[in-house]
Amino acid sequence: MEYDLTKEGGNDPVPLMEQKGRNTIQEETGNIRLVYYGNETLKRVAREITAIDDALVELVDSMYRIMYRSGGIGLAAPQVDISKRVIVIDIQGKKGPSFPLINPVILESSEATEPYEEGCLSVPGIMRDVIRPVEILAKGVDMDGNEVEFEAGGLLARVLQHEIDHLNGVLFIDRLEDHVRKELRPELKKIRKLNREP
Ligand SMILES: [Zn+2]
Repeated sequence: MEYDLTKEGGNDPVPLMEQKGRNTIQEETGNIRLVYYGNETLKRVAREITAIDDALVELVDSMYRIMYRSGGIGLAAPQVDISKRVIVIDIQGKKGPSFPLINPVILESSEATEPYEEGCLSVPGIMRDVIRPVEILAKGVDMDGNEVEFEAGGLLARVLQHEIDHLNGVLFIDRLEDHVRKELRPELKKIRKLNREP
């Protein structure tokens, strides 16, 4: 697997606009929790992040905590019911990197695709092969406000595509063939109910 987190712009000023007023994320991190298939935030296109402030730092910390507690290797903010474009990834267990990424975008995708078995903390218990491009060129902003652009292959490309899908309101099960998704209906019905538990 290849990955190269090449920083661009070095110590350039933070390119994001400072937001006026208090962000509401901080209040939300107090009782931050995973949401599941059926939750409305998971279906929404998440909003761009405009400031790297304390609230965002806390959100990212909470996302890491929840991801580790749940044994995941990636998590997107909509999965904790926050409609913001930030993801966290940790594939150090597979000799990959760990990093958060703000406003991530896929710039290019390889024509070559491959199936790979995916799961999702918001769709627990379901694992299915999803076909995606093998390699991508991605960009985003790191927690210091630097724009980063990098090529990714292997598991990193896979996780990035899965998490960026979340920011666009897409779940991996949306990418399955109709007949496969139909088979999953009874399981999905049960998962939907997890949202109602305290
Ligand atoms: Zn997911």
